[in-house]
Amino acid sequence: MQQKKVIVVATGGTIAMKYDEASQGLIPACSGEDLAAAVPGIDKLAQLEFCQFSNIASPGMTPDDMWRLHLKCEEFLAREDVTGVVVTHGTDTLEETSYFLDITKISEKPIVTTAAMRGAGDTSPDGPWNIYCSVKTAASEEAVGMGVLVCLNETLHAPGEVTKTHSANPATFQSPWWGPVGYVDLDKIVFRRKTLGVKRFHPEALTARVDLIKAMTGSDREYIDFAVARGCKGIVLEGFGRGNLPPPMIPGVEEAVKKGVAVILTTRTPGGRVLDVYGYPGSVTDSRRVGIAAAGEISAAKARLKLMVVLSEHPEYATNRDKLEEIFDI
Ligand code: ASP
Repeated sequence: MQQKKVIVVATGGTIAMKYDEASQGLIPACSGEDLAAAVPGIDKLAQLEFCQFSNIASPGMTPDDMWRLHLKCEEFLAREDVTGVVVTHGTDTLEETSYFLDITKISEKPIVTTAAMRGAGDTSPDGPWNIYCSVKTAASEEAVGMGVLVCLNETLHAPGEVTKTHSANPATFQSPWWGPVGYVDLDKIVFRRKTLGVKRFHPEALTARVDLIKAMTGSDREYIDFAVARGCKGIVLEGFGRGNLPPPMIPGVEEAVKKGVAVILTTRTPGGRVLDVYGYPGSVTDSRRVGIAAAGEISAAKARLKLMVVLSEHPEYATNRDKLEEIFDI
């Protein structure tokens, strides 16, 4: 009898979908138990237990769902008989949920998130092998203390670095500029590095509303004003290049900051930090002058979740730009 126990927490996604005649497309069809039953040899890796958290496509995942999923995973990991947790999920927002679970993580035991690009009923589905590799990782000694790991295509990625890069190809998950942290081989899990600078937060509840606004050519302050009017405690802006914004957004930033709203600046480039190297209107020098906090390398979608978590634990940081930069620019 296998001594290791891994809990498979199924949330939905293409990995659990099959083609449906009536709706002419893939829809949720399989439970976590069905998924594991399709993986020969998985029972030799660990004793499995199942939790059907939801069965939805991942564009429907909300921050509140992520919060409940975090509580559920940590509840399982706190059990002495549990070695690790595998979360099955849709690929579309896998990086968001994985990142959320990582920055709120409590236990040192592994959480491995996985997904598939092909449905469970498709020719050559990628789900079964991804689940096999994920269970193997979650049951391994090597993964202890490595935070949340995103496992697809035998490859392990850090949630803060990984992103879905292709809408259909099974090799879609990549960590631009950094590469994977490790991989799953036939005999063992191989790690090549550990990600530095992961900060974790433990709010009692997820309370802070934060919106994300993408700068576009011709943007003005209107969406910023709207976010403030609807009660956001924080706003993440996604700028261009080094973090530069269209100049008409700056008065909106200034007023939001004056009203006590945390405004965080990210860049749409998949690599590199936000930095005040330019002095022109709309530059990072200009937006920092009116109180914006430069968020380093993090993607806008992840910065938004992080700001929700940070402000839920420390609402007072909303007006502390130095503190926000210390937390985000890592
Ligand atoms: N739309 C699907 C989802 O994210 C895609 C997938 O799982 O690959 O649920």
